[in-house]
Amino acid sequence: MTFIITSLCVRDRGCIDVCPVECMVPGQPVNEWPWIYIDPDTCIDCGACVPECPFAAIFPEDEVPSAYTAKGGEYISNVGLTGHFEGTNHHGGKIVLDTARQLEPGEVLDLTPDIKPNYDFFKTGPGYGAKDIDDGM
Ligand code: SF4
Ligand code: SF4
Repeated sequence: MTFIITSLCVRDRGCIDVCPVECMVPGQPVNEWPWIYIDPDTCIDCGACVPECPFAAIFPEDEVPSAYTAKGGEYISNVGLTGHFEGTNHHGGKIVLDTARQLEPGEVLDLTPDIKPNYDFFKTGPGYGAKDIDDGM
């Protein structure tokens, strides 16, 4: 198994610092790979990243919700969305996303399609090479 980052991720980066095996990689380019991605072959399932995420975006793979009920006001970020999100990340840097959407209270979302991009990022996407062009966002 592995842990999975879902579209609730808005690149706060709080999780990355605690991973003991450094298997969490910020996606680049951001509009194509908007989340931080966990290398499923390297993740040791320690769970240390989960409580560090202020947006509760990380789940064990077999617990990714198929019916996530939105509190309302939180954002998802995903390829193809066109809404805007701005914030400040865990290191004080600016977050600007143009692939976002704010959720309505009670809206129900299937987050299981978010599992595959975590695998794709390392199989056919930029993988660890994205670290070389990481701009801190
Ligand atoms: S702490 Fe949460 S929102 Fe921030 S980068 Fe990690 S998964 Fe994404
Ligand atoms: S579960 Fe542990 S090893 Fe896996 S990504 Fe999170 S912190 Fe890293």
